[in-house]
Amino acid sequence: MSARAAIRLTATGRVQGVGFRPGVFRLAEELGLAGSVQNTARGVVIELEGPPGAVRAFVARLPGSLPCLARLDGLREEPLAPAGRAGFAILPSEEGAGEGRALIPFDVATCPACLRELRDPADRRHRYPFINCTLCGPRYTIIESVPYDRPRTSMKKFPLCARCRREYEDPRDRRHHAQPNACPECGPRLTLTDPGGRPLGGDPLEGARERLRAGQVLAVRGVGGFHLAVDACSAAAVERLRRRKRRGGKPFAVLAPDLEAVRRLAAVSPAEAALLEGERRPIVLLGKRRPFALADGVAPGNPRVGAMLPHAPLHHLLVEGFAALVLTSGNLSEEPLARDNDEALQRLGGLADAFLLHDRDILMSCDDSVACVRPGRAGEDALSLVRRSRGYAPDPLPFPGGAACVLGVGGQQKNTFCLTRGERAFLSQHVGDLENLETEAHFRRCLAHLEGLLGVEPELVACDLHPDYLSTRLAEELVAARSGSRLVRVQHHHAHLGACLAEHELTGPALGLCLDGTGYGPDGTIWGGELLLGDLREVRRVARLRPFRLPGGEAAVREPWRTAAGALLEALGEGAPWGLLGPEAGRAELVARAAGRGVNSPWTSSLGRLFDAVSALLGLCRRQDYDAQAAVVLEAAAGSLPGPAWEPALRAGPGLLELDFAPMLRELVAGLGRGAPPEELAAGFHAWAVAGLARVCREARAAGAPGRVALSGGCCLNRRLEDGLAAALEADGFEVLLHRRVPANDGGLSLGQAAVAAARQGRR
Ligand code: ZN
Ligand code: ZN
Ligand code: FE
Repeated sequence: MSARAAIRLTATGRVQGVGFRPGVFRLAEELGLAGSVQNTARGVVIELEGPPGAVRAFVARLPGSLPCLARLDGLREEPLAPAGRAGFAILPSEEGAGEGRALIPFDVATCPACLRELRDPADRRHRYPFINCTLCGPRYTIIESVPYDRPRTSMKKFPLCARCRREYEDPRDRRHHAQPNACPECGPRLTLTDPGGRPLGGDPLEGARERLRAGQVLAVRGVGGFHLAVDACSAAAVERLRRRKRRGGKPFAVLAPDLEAVRRLAAVSPAEAALLEGERRPIVLLGKRRPFALADGVAPGNPRVGAMLPHAPLHHLLVEGFAALVLTSGNLSEEPLARDNDEALQRLGGLADAFLLHDRDILMSCDDSVACVRPGRAGEDALSLVRRSRGYAPDPLPFPGGAACVLGVGGQQKNTFCLTRGERAFLSQHVGDLENLETEAHFRRCLAHLEGLLGVEPELVACDLHPDYLSTRLAEELVAARSGSRLVRVQHHHAHLGACLAEHELTGPALGLCLDGTGYGPDGTIWGGELLLGDLREVRRVARLRPFRLPGGEAAVREPWRTAAGALLEALGEGAPWGLLGPEAGRAELVARAAGRGVNSPWTSSLGRLFDAVSALLGLCRRQDYDAQAAVVLEAAAGSLPGPAWEPALRAGPGLLELDFAPMLRELVAGLGRGAPPEELAAGFHAWAVAGLARVCREARAAGAPGRVALSGGCCLNRRLEDGLAAALEADGFEVLLHRRVPANDGGLSLGQAAVAAARQGRR
């Protein structure tokens, strides 16, 4: 007998629940190697025995023959004594596989092979809306507990038919251990009902498509919850949906059948195409083509449109033949997504004309993720996630040095929470705005579920400094209920900086340019235009936007004309030209006078609020009915116009530097007086903000701060601001840290809170 070699390989990374073991099996078989493969706590352990050449060939070829979702981070090799092994086996997972065991896979878009079968009239799954395989299909949304096996998913109530079972058990089959494997004979089914839950006759899918073509509103149960859908070309249908959903002017996202259809709506760069067609399938924000091919009501007054490609077979079938469908979350304005059939019929009964239901339960609801591509940036820096949910959660982020389990409960708006286990941070899906009982209940449910999946109980609970955030109160309650856990309060913008540092696996020191709408400052004022200097443990504020009064406090957020009154008062005093605020001029003068006396008018240094003020002054948006509307229309007006170059002014504030907006605002008011077009002034304002903030960073560096600056906060989703700032700072020799897989807005706060809390415990 010729010489035999034997080795043990330990593979780490994303190697479980992604078809890694069958891939190993097939490669070993092809090379005629004996041995085994097994999921363990240390990763996937592969034992090989056979001719030395074949063993070497296996090691060389493994990285190139991985399934598309797998990611090999490490491959350790140890020699073994040849023991005359015969055959190759996939061994049962090691019990208590801990860390390795519970890497919960995210929901994956339909793969090309399944898509071919879906469209093949000869295939037994032709047009079957729940087709999937080891490389695609629902994951996180159907898992009850770990390890990830069919009896612990919502597929347990569908016993496999003989043919599906053969596929499931055959390591040579693409559906080997595909937990949601199903077919029309044994798997989930669709039903179409009226709003009262009474089944409608005929083929459910065709009936649903018929209703969409007739302009009706359809509620669709998908992968992560319910959507409401209408034909995006029908102005009447879009209007009906807007009215029933009480949606105001907030843009709707659309589902397009394929990339070519998206290209008819928007210009699509290669990076955007890759994101649209990738396995995570977020909504991608794209520049609209003019004239817009869909109803204007889809994204009124917005230069961008959010588009996505189908992420599940049901959606491929539903959208066939349409230019696009509006696909918006199935809820009433700010409530969480409806998840169960009965719940949806009850909550969405008045919104939809028909319900396309199915019987595969959704255990964790997940909204669609939202992303955009930064023009002119390559690699990881090209991605900017606006909302991190389906397809991303709960894919972990690295969390170096972590040992204690930390929970970051997040903020108030766009809430997510973050749980750490070992050296990984698990950011939850988008939970929503924690402003009502439904969302609070949803938060508790998601937290309990993810704690269960990860098998952790937090020792440290980190929350915002804001005493009235619901998330803060939930954190206090959690700590009171669990002996041995401790509460750590983290200032809002420190958490923003922390999130950006953590995402880059850094601890600091760095400058943190934290630009957003509202964050509770330790001095009791509203922060939001801050330059922080520090690390994960602690920061100090080195600069801010010159503060101004916010007449009416919270009311100003919805009514930017109030914010404009406050900013005008600060820049021009009581004799400001109130008439610029049009129909609000009289009230503006009144609230400004009251603000001057300090009546219900907190101070703010928020850049987001200054965007609101300028938007209102230019007559673009004086009242907003969705988050950041005033800033969005201001950015749209500015476009890429050069605008006037107003010299930014700095001044010394109390122990810090201030970017003084008053001279800029006086220029802007003078421009309005001259009749300059608002677009030009909007461009001038953006250019001023970029130049001013970059100058503030330079001053800080000149005073000894490091040349590394993290950009964070919701204002960074303004492309002109963030792209401009990053370019200006890099041209000045700064190293710029941008958010990538973690949203720059409050959706990323929870990671920052966890990172700061861990660092203060000496863990990082
Ligand atoms: Zn597939
Ligand atoms: Zn079957
Ligand atoms: Fe914020």
